[in-house]
Amino acid sequence: MLQGKTALVTGSTSGIGLGLALALARSGARVMLNGFGDVAAARAEVEATGAEVDYHGADMSRPDEVVDMVRACEARFGGVDILVNNAGIQHVAPVQDFPPERWDAILAINLSSAFHSTRAALPGMLTRNWGRIVNIASVHGQVASVNKSAYVAAKHGLIGLTKAVALETATTGVTVNAVCPGWVLTPLVQKQVEARAVSDAVDLPEATRRLLAEKQPSLAFTTPEQLGALTVFLCSEAASNVRGQAWGMDGGWTAQ
Ligand code: NAD
Repeated sequence: MLQGKTALVTGSTSGIGLGLALALARSGARVMLNGFGDVAAARAEVEATGAEVDYHGADMSRPDEVVDMVRACEARFGGVDILVNNAGIQHVAPVQDFPPERWDAILAINLSSAFHSTRAALPGMLTRNWGRIVNIASVHGQVASVNKSAYVAAKHGLIGLTKAVALETATTGVTVNAVCPGWVLTPLVQKQVEARAVSDAVDLPEATRRLLAEKQPSLAFTTPEQLGALTVFLCSEAASNVRGQAWGMDGGWTAQ
């Protein structure tokens, strides 16, 4: 379905981003990976789909590196057709104790990087009159939780950016949408499960059950595979008039 298209997925060496990269690769896209950690393992997993793969190590907190990543993708594959802004970090603390440098890092990585990548990639998409920008936001772009001020602010901002750019491109072949997962069991959430086990003095399965029961009525994690399928749909021709949406996949979290 996405044969001949190039997808750039930020933060795709782990968790959701890796799941999205795999789904896009299986749908026929070439993929530019990005992120830290076990890059070789992520690359091997995506290459095993048979897709053409490359990697750029840009730090999403550095605007110059974000732009360099887009240019490198254009040079390597001839363009960026699908831009998935997925890289994100979390820090949990009450606002009065929130370290200002964690605030700055979360705003830079979870929000500003999407502005810089969009700004760099959009002209090429408009020239070809085809493009898909998928911003991985969160339920925390729609509702808040305690002790996540920076993350909630950044994700609300990301949905705002999504809507603004969707309007600016509304008459073109470029669509811009956000995806809003609830809990997904990735390293980012595993840390929160472990913190919950310590704070409640319970084992990990019980901490997991409590985490889900508090917010996610389905009592089941959303999976990277499910988010991959949704992203592939948003990149399809069937979704060519889905614009400026914040599409939930949250087990009922925001229905409450
Ligand atoms: P994760 O920690 O498994 O993966 C994060 C990815 O981002 C990794 O590849 C990491 O290397 C990369 N990354 C982190 N900082 C970076 C930087 N400065 N520059 C480049 N890459 C960087 O996390 P995840 O749970 O897969 O989260 C992915 C996205 O999904 C995030 O935007 C997160 O906010 C969002 N999200 C996650 C959940 C969840 O429950 N896990 C729910 C809603 C939204």
